[in-house]
Amino acid sequence: MPDTSKAATLYAPSRRVVLGLALALAAPALIGRHALADGLVDPFTLGVASGDPAPDGFVIWTRLAPQPLAEDGGGGLSADAPVTFEVAEDPGFRTVVRRGRARASAALGHSVHVEVAGLKPGRPYWYRFAAMGAQSAVGTARTAPAAGAAVDHLRFAFASCSHWELGWFSAYRHMAAENPDLVLFLGDYIYEYSYKSERDAARLVRRHDRREEIIDLAGYRNRYALYRTDPDLQALHACAPCLVTWDDHEVQNDYANRWSQDVATPEAAFLKRRRAAYQAFYEHMPVRRWSRPTPEETRVYGRFGYGALADFTVLDGRQYRSIQPCARPDSRKGWVAPASCTDRVEPARTMLGARQEAWLYDGFGRAKAQWNIIAQDLLVADIKQRDRDGALGHWTDGWDGYPANRKRMLDALAQSKARNPVFLGGDIHSFWTTDLKADFNNPGSATIATEFVGAAVTQDGPPANAFTSVMQDNPHVKFYNGVTNGYVSVDLTPRRMDTRLVAISDRRDKAATASTLKAYVVEDGRPGAVEA
Ligand code: FE
Ligand code: CA
Repeated sequence: MPDTSKAATLYAPSRRVVLGLALALAAPALIGRHALADGLVDPFTLGVASGDPAPDGFVIWTRLAPQPLAEDGGGGLSADAPVTFEVAEDPGFRTVVRRGRARASAALGHSVHVEVAGLKPGRPYWYRFAAMGAQSAVGTARTAPAAGAAVDHLRFAFASCSHWELGWFSAYRHMAAENPDLVLFLGDYIYEYSYKSERDAARLVRRHDRREEIIDLAGYRNRYALYRTDPDLQALHACAPCLVTWDDHEVQNDYANRWSQDVATPEAAFLKRRRAAYQAFYEHMPVRRWSRPTPEETRVYGRFGYGALADFTVLDGRQYRSIQPCARPDSRKGWVAPASCTDRVEPARTMLGARQEAWLYDGFGRAKAQWNIIAQDLLVADIKQRDRDGALGHWTDGWDGYPANRKRMLDALAQSKARNPVFLGGDIHSFWTTDLKADFNNPGSATIATEFVGAAVTQDGPPANAFTSVMQDNPHVKFYNGVTNGYVSVDLTPRRMDTRLVAISDRRDKAATASTLKAYVVEDGRPGAVEA
């Protein structure tokens, strides 16, 4: 369910949007996007998207960008532009239930976020936009079931870590083909850096238009725009609403809160860069007004309900965290810190920040759904790995850099009696199935929650043997695979959660196939995945 403190803004139509003015609108001539008359340009090069589904509506999104990679980041437009939208109960738009006007403002990169409300729960709708004499592609979105309603089945899929240059987005194409009700993007949706060396160039399938690391608003806007020109990603966004959080590469590798990974970058300079990145994120994602950047924060964490069946809690693991422990003098990049790094286990350290932690634990205490899905960016389980000297240590940039917060989170879950908690994550470019334990040093301790982490859409896996050589030190890991790309697909019913780890045959093959690498069942009332 939506966070109640935000309910007023969640359900209020955006002030920029005038709803229900069908008769007053002089509708522009609607021209199919592939049949533009002479002299007209297609402003819908980035497709359409929907997100944040509620029982009575969702966000529909587009961005006008006749020249998506225009150097100034403006998409080929300068002035604000009017846009109209329609939401219908059928794909042919015979029964249009909402119709209105929005403004694509230059200040927000000519993006349009319409919070559609007043719809019926638990059913599909079709939507489209028109502007500049052209019409967008048609998108489909499903409203969430009514709060507390019985739900037989929900299908969702999640993905992370899609570097444009390293491969085709076949994972996204196969996700769309599964016809999910909901899609989760768990971070590294874009990458801020490009590959430059000769050695790397030989293995790339395509190039970023900008090779320098992006650091300003025009750069981040163009990076999202480039990724959104991909037909597989457009198809995925058009087929289902999404929930989205970010990881580091939406801003910069391994950043934490206001700290760049580069020790020489002052906090003020990094915060300026982060603000530009967060703004471009907002402009390109189908998120609600409460995610609009303010000088204080850009809020992406939230709660979304699917009737009595499931609650999704989406977390932000980057914006509010403590600085990584035991940073080396020359770089704040994550590394495997040895046991002598006592900073790591400091109780005051937080991954989520005090406010998000309090909000999360309060939500656990009030959880009523059958399944409590926590969607976030990182592997949660404690993983002992070998440092350069061969000693066992922990990676400082993930949850292993913040074990006190992890313990508070799992303790809060255990005490809350929230049913069937399942964590989903990304970032580590590999598939993981783990048991999240009350005490990771005691294999006999209770399993508090189940965890699934998805492989990267295109990114490289971890170095060979980085984890396979330490599996005996991590008995709560049930499965690990770091040599394939892919995504995770879930079928949820009141009795069980069926999870498939889906492998993509070859990221370099535009027509790559998908196959189930492993399948797991989580049964209602029994934490921990069992191989199907
Ligand atoms: Fe990544
Ligand atoms: Ca990452």
